[in-house]
Amino acid sequence: MRLCSATVANFRNFSSISIEPGHHFNLLYGLNGQGKTNLLEAIYLLGCPRSFRTSRLPELVKHGERQAQILGRVESGGIQNVLRLVVEPVGRKVEIDGKAVHKASELHGKLNAVVFSPDDTGMVRTGPESRRRYLDRAVYMGDIGYLHCWHSYQRILKQRNHLLKNADKTGLDIWSEKLAEAGAEVIERRLRFVAALDGKLQKYYAAISGGGETSRLRYQPDGVASSEREVIRDELLELFKLHLRSDERYGTTTVGPHRDDLTFILDERPLKAFGSQGQQKTFVLALKMAEMDNLCDTFGEAPLLLLDDMSSELDACRSHNLIEFLTRREIQVFITTTERSPALLATAPHCAVFRVEGGNLTFEGS
Ligand code: ATP
Ligand code: MG
Repeated sequence: MRLCSATVANFRNFSSISIEPGHHFNLLYGLNGQGKTNLLEAIYLLGCPRSFRTSRLPELVKHGERQAQILGRVESGGIQNVLRLVVEPVGRKVEIDGKAVHKASELHGKLNAVVFSPDDTGMVRTGPESRRRYLDRAVYMGDIGYLHCWHSYQRILKQRNHLLKNADKTGLDIWSEKLAEAGAEVIERRLRFVAALDGKLQKYYAAISGGGETSRLRYQPDGVASSEREVIRDELLELFKLHLRSDERYGTTTVGPHRDDLTFILDERPLKAFGSQGQQKTFVLALKMAEMDNLCDTFGEAPLLLLDDMSSELDACRSHNLIEFLTRREIQVFITTTERSPALLATAPHCAVFRVEGGNLTFEGS
């Protein structure tokens, strides 16, 4: 997959810019606060309904403007499409080749992108919520069916929680059953995704770190031992029964996939407690590489890779290993750094260089 050209208007700190990125490596460099991450976000939003930074649409529109627009010519499966995204504070509109898109499934797979940003590394150290958010987003990227079952689960969860707060709890059994049914599908799809990723993670961790540590990914849903949907449903139902008292006391569903965690393991120990900062960064990057590989398997071509603030995230040696690794693949990569890094340009062949300054973009050659 490839972004051939893009125009961004009234988005974040950009009034109007155009970019014709290179096929392989693209370096966006500039001082802090100039718009580098904003540009990655614009590229990401072309193919994905939600930003990796915010869920609040008004933040995306340039201060004082009514709407932002991102227009991109993209290529996937040998076919070119023009994607157009219009963001207003109250909603967003998507068009493919001039036709309005109403379902997420129509846009799905047109421009896949995997982001690696400093915020991602943070998910190792924080509570389960950010890891769950990562998991949900990553599963959805390769599995459009996930979005539907995730939304059903959320809807049913809301109903059940509403009932748990009520004095009259008529119908709670039915909602528990529905929740177990939808939850089983969520868990089954998550398990399938994590198993595929876990199988790839080790290779990438070794490639980036050059070391021999073993890295693993584990998703162990609460109260669930099976990986088959029918059995998971029964296990969830049992779990809801077991926690009914506390659910009633707290007025909310205290167990289920909306509370599950994803565990990162390095050398048989939790990365969160024992991993160094460098190991944590490497782990998350390896995870992202595994995710890219997985998307390659699913769509038959590589997604874009958006590496935000690379110099702060990886040391010189790890960056070198990563670029060498990417050089051997057909992947369109966008890298942001604060300096026009000579080491990076020496490793990355034919890198297109862009300077980002005060919401302006200047092509400096390749
Ligand atoms: P760093 O190197 O610090 O990560 P960056 O180049 O990635 O910097 P961005 O996050 O892309 O910086 O851009 C930040 C700038 O964009 C800030 O100056 C911020 O005020 C501005 N900005 C963000 N949202 C909007 C908006 N809706 N309207 C106008 N400006 C905005
Ligand atoms: Mg930034």
